[in-house]
Amino acid sequence: MISVVAPVFNEGAGVERFVARLAAVLTGAGLTYELVLVDDGSADDSWDFVVAQAALDDRVRGIQLSRNFGKEAAVLAGLEHAAGDAVVVIDSDLQHPPEAIPEMVRRWRQGAHVVEAVKRNRTGQGVVGRVGGRAFNKAFTGLTRVDLVDATDFRLLARPALEALLRLPEHSSFFRGTSSWIGFRRSTIEIDIEERAGGRSRWTLGSLFRLAVNGLTSFTSAPLHLVTMVGLAFAAFAVLLGAQTLIRWIGGDSVAGFPTVILLLLVMGTFLLLGLGVIGEYLARIHEEVRGRPRYLVQERVEHLALPEQRVR
Ligand code: UDP
Ligand code: MG
Repeated sequence: MISVVAPVFNEGAGVERFVARLAAVLTGAGLTYELVLVDDGSADDSWDFVVAQAALDDRVRGIQLSRNFGKEAAVLAGLEHAAGDAVVVIDSDLQHPPEAIPEMVRRWRQGAHVVEAVKRNRTGQGVVGRVGGRAFNKAFTGLTRVDLVDATDFRLLARPALEALLRLPEHSSFFRGTSSWIGFRRSTIEIDIEERAGGRSRWTLGSLFRLAVNGLTSFTSAPLHLVTMVGLAFAAFAVLLGAQTLIRWIGGDSVAGFPTVILLLLVMGTFLLLGLGVIGEYLARIHEEVRGRPRYLVQERVEHLALPEQRVR
């Protein structure tokens, strides 16, 4: 059996469309599955749609988080509740084509533990988002050797890989990163990202930036080392400049250079603040981990509601 985990946040009637299309594809492919819909504290009627779907079809289970914990937490909740031999994580806004799942399952049956869908295209993002996303994925890949280029959250994890993932203790999880970090036999398929079926993306540039900073700081301390390296470079430069000034002073040259002083002050100041900021990010990460609060809270669950005669199979 496979479990399909889909986070839902303010998708409204989109839930119905999603469940229908998924059911058509998976039933068509002759797969036994359960669908775990995780309502991430939606402010609209998404949860009612989840409950309705669970009542119609006992393969559908619903988990409602007590508030909006963010997509990462919602996915985690789904993964922890999934019972299948393999789990597929997919967006509920139909941007990830469910039609790709049978191929993922085929790869899994051929022995892959992790099947990632990489995107052939990028849609529904502004220029800034697209360029920023690319830059981030490149930087992340370079700094951590965890390949993120063109990666999506749409992936299949076989039980062993899932168990490994769930053993990671960190609270600020970054699914795309952690599910690559664990290793295991991997396989990739290509998909075309579709336009959102309805509603709109909840990601703002700000929240994307946060995700990027979270992802980086929870995966690598390279920025900290970078601060050290730049600091060292500045120190070397200072020594050289000092020596030169001294030599000129001994030689009787009056030392002018008001602009140089201002410029250096600016550069140093900027760097110091940036360095502090970088350290602060890690401190915040440590603080969060030390607090050790649960990553999500469940408010309500619905499963196996269907009466036998109502079963849609
Ligand atoms: N989502 C969520 N919690 C959030 C934001 C989004 O569970 O706080 C879900 C959303 O319902 C969708 C998926 O995560 O299924 C991807 O979200 P979205 O489409 O907004 O992001 P994008 O596709 O633009 O990356
Ligand atoms: Mg989307």
